[in-house]
Amino acid sequence: MNAIEDKIAVLPSLTPRIAPWMRQVANDKVLQQQLFETYGSPINVHALDKFEKNIMAYQEVLDRHELEHLIFYARKANKSKALVAKAKATGIGVDTASFNELKQSLEVGVASDKLVSTAAIKNEDLIKLAILNDVVLILDNEDECRAVSQIATQLNKRAIVGFRVSGFYHAGEKLYSRFGFDVDSVTDFIIKNVGWDKEFDNLEYRGLHFHLDGYSTSQRGEALHQTLQIAEELRSEKFETLFIDIGGGFLMNYLEDEEEWNAFKTQLKDAVQGNRLPITFQNQGLGYEMIDGVLHGNLATYPYYNTIHGPQFLEEILDFINADKKTAAFRLKEQSIQLRMEPGRSLLDQVGITMAKVAFRKRDSEGSLLIGLEMNMSQLMSSSADFLLDPMVVHMQSKEDTGIEGYFVGAYCLERDVILKRKIALKQIPDIGDVVIFINTAGYMMHFFETEAHLFDLSKNLSMDTSKEQFGIDDFIDDTLIN
Ligand SMILES: *Cc1c(COP(=O)(O)O)cnc(C)c1O
Repeated sequence: MNAIEDKIAVLPSLTPRIAPWMRQVANDKVLQQQLFETYGSPINVHALDKFEKNIMAYQEVLDRHELEHLIFYARKANKSKALVAKAKATGIGVDTASFNELKQSLEVGVASDKLVSTAAIKNEDLIKLAILNDVVLILDNEDECRAVSQIATQLNKRAIVGFRVSGFYHAGEKLYSRFGFDVDSVTDFIIKNVGWDKEFDNLEYRGLHFHLDGYSTSQRGEALHQTLQIAEELRSEKFETLFIDIGGGFLMNYLEDEEEWNAFKTQLKDAVQGNRLPITFQNQGLGYEMIDGVLHGNLATYPYYNTIHGPQFLEEILDFINADKKTAAFRLKEQSIQLRMEPGRSLLDQVGITMAKVAFRKRDSEGSLLIGLEMNMSQLMSSSADFLLDPMVVHMQSKEDTGIEGYFVGAYCLERDVILKRKIALKQIPDIGDVVIFINTAGYMMHFFETEAHLFDLSKNLSMDTSKEQFGIDDFIDDTLIN
């Protein structure tokens, strides 16, 4: 109709932060072809040196605050063994959330005192394995205490335990969680039930744990102070708290540009309201919806752009003050309590990419361009409504820059196997065999919901040291060969 109409048809971009090693892989078409010939599609590549750098950045903050500390890599965020081996090599611990995660970490050689089990459901095999190896079990409820105590009796061993706490108070509200003991009753519970003359006489109390949903530093700061309070009360009853574990959920920043992020959110709302052309598959709202002509809801994706993230996010928690103006870090030192943390996603920042080959191009029944990839939706999926980063598309043969837009679709026989819900702007229509690289996928995206429907093989996981100048095919280690 007019110039405004033209302008609002332009798709918003979401430029990812891209580590140099990712560009190096993206620029090497010969290498990509060799990788696909050897491993098939899709392939996940992991940069072990980046992982180590992320660990060191957290350690720097903890050291600067002069805290006794131990970082546990929350391995549920990624399935690769190579990362567990790297965690071991750097001297940090591993947070395990299942029997197999614990078993594998023990097999890789992670020391017992560097392991913790925070599994939400702990079956007999897991409890046995943890007790036999003196691995701390983080207890969630009374039934679990009883199960652990009974199995410890059978094994004629003591179980080393911490207690997960939840229901913290923040800004006048109690924070909901399905996990853990309530902050108001956990102290009494431990005093009444744990100890040589109590029901759970073979549970050895070592510390307290929490892991909060969401990404608020003030909620975590409050939770840490309230947990410190519990530790003080327990100390007066002769329970010494050796550690407080503040869990994970440290924010990560995926995107280059805050303005792009804000523009995207505005344009998504405009599109859902019908005020511009759709920017998502079938105009999906990703959390926004129109009800009786009014826009409702909130963006249901991970907050991909963040100014405070990683080490700085930790710093805000440690510097959080209570009513007496004492920082959490100060109180931890005052009580000689070791600070533990369990970052998963944020330790994997800039650590991984997912590469897939283009299988076909077509138009759907609405005329939209679909680009079929040799992968499926479960290989790039998190609990977030969409992965909001522009992918890199490597054209084996560059042609004229024609400008086109379309959607990437996967191999599952579901209408909803659309790998990114966002419509993506491309320089040219990809050819069959061109390569699409999804950036920064190591935290949850590549593995957490991966399934083997249709009996498709799981994706291949490779790892490497990316500080090298030149990569050859032999630098990529297949994860199944790590032991
Ligand atoms: C998931 C989880 C983590 C890791 O969370 P991230 O968001 O990946 O940092 C740590 N601890 C527990 C108990 C968890 O459930």
